[in-house]
Amino acid sequence: MNKIYLDHSATTRTDEDVARAMLEFMTDHYGNPSSVHSFGRSARKAVEEAREKVAKAIGAEPNEIIFTSGGTEADNLAIRGVAFANRKRGNHIITSSIEHHAVLDTCKALEREGFEVTYLPVDEYGRVNPDDVRNAITDQTVLVSVMHANNEVGTIQPIREIGALAREKGVFFHSDTVQSVGKIPVDVDELNIDLLSISAHKFYGPKGIGCLYMRKGVRMLPISFGGSQERKRRPGTLNVPGIVGFGMAIDKAVASLDEQMAYQTRLRDKLIKELTAGIDEVKLNGHPTERLPNNVNLSFRYIEGESLLLSLDMKGIAASSGSACTSGSLDPSHVLLALGLSHEIAHGSLRMTLGKDNTEEEIDYVIEVLPEIVERLRAMSPLYANRDKSKDQSKECCSNVQ
Ligand SMILES: *Cc1c(COP(=O)(O)O)cnc(C)c1O
Repeated sequence: MNKIYLDHSATTRTDEDVARAMLEFMTDHYGNPSSVHSFGRSARKAVEEAREKVAKAIGAEPNEIIFTSGGTEADNLAIRGVAFANRKRGNHIITSSIEHHAVLDTCKALEREGFEVTYLPVDEYGRVNPDDVRNAITDQTVLVSVMHANNEVGTIQPIREIGALAREKGVFFHSDTVQSVGKIPVDVDELNIDLLSISAHKFYGPKGIGCLYMRKGVRMLPISFGGSQERKRRPGTLNVPGIVGFGMAIDKAVASLDEQMAYQTRLRDKLIKELTAGIDEVKLNGHPTERLPNNVNLSFRYIEGESLLLSLDMKGIAASSGSACTSGSLDPSHVLLALGLSHEIAHGSLRMTLGKDNTEEEIDYVIEVLPEIVERLRAMSPLYANRDKSKDQSKECCSNVQ
């Protein structure tokens, strides 16, 4: 069997039509979109067409889209840009404790520059309570930033309610929608969003391109300087091939959204059902229903997620033990800890994220080999051998979920 890729929340394979379209804008239409000659004009036209596609996909206007180098830069631009532009009004920002590091570390940097940040807790499923947002807003609050769907555990946040609360209080609302755009419906009006971040490589587009949506009327300052591109909000020569690929990829993702949601949800639920039934002491992380169609995150007691990953890799299965950034470090994921998992349980976690090209046959293969791997690793684990002695202290895990 070919290798099985179950790490689509880290990145996806670039769609072949997308890659072909991009190549044309490197070798044929290679003009700089700021140039006035015909080379420049044809690049400019392609950029504006892509901008329309991106805007349409999220219910926005083309002039509300600012192209960036991806999700990380969009998060930085949204948070720093709004914080500094509104500094006279207040210095308080509200976010959640389970954000991507692009948001969390930007907020931490702002704390060092005199801003105050509230990091809201989440419940055991990873959901922010909108009442906590309401209670945290003060007359100093200028921005609320809560992600739409979590990259590790797949939990979908009640962002429509959170956005409505922010608007009622005259506070701007940003959402990191990098994991939700292209996977579930996202409409900026329906969800009461003022700013959102998108990254093309999470839905079969190229890496290194994304955008910030910024609603008309939002006050924001640029964070980099040196050109008048993107109406001075994000200077620098535009990544024309990337933008063309982004436009095509988002168009395709939206066109097949319903079909893919149904398909991946079915495979996701099969994985969850069979693995939690076939293995002892396993726990589903994240929300049972308010969850991305492609996310499975499980904790297996008595084993290390890293050993699990290596064993799966030897069987040709590529997964993740948390977020790509967290793997490789010894600290358990901040997301799993925020859900209330102990360090031990958090260390035994595995994230499998599905994509459009995964087949039922692949899922069946995972269901066949994963229990064998878990059994073998547990047989080598001293923790497992002594489990009866420690059982009373650790009621937290793991009744079979669902
Ligand atoms: C991948 C990801 C990002 C970063 O996007 P890049 O384009 O890779 O910089 C930000 N937020 C979330 C939730 C992500 O999953």
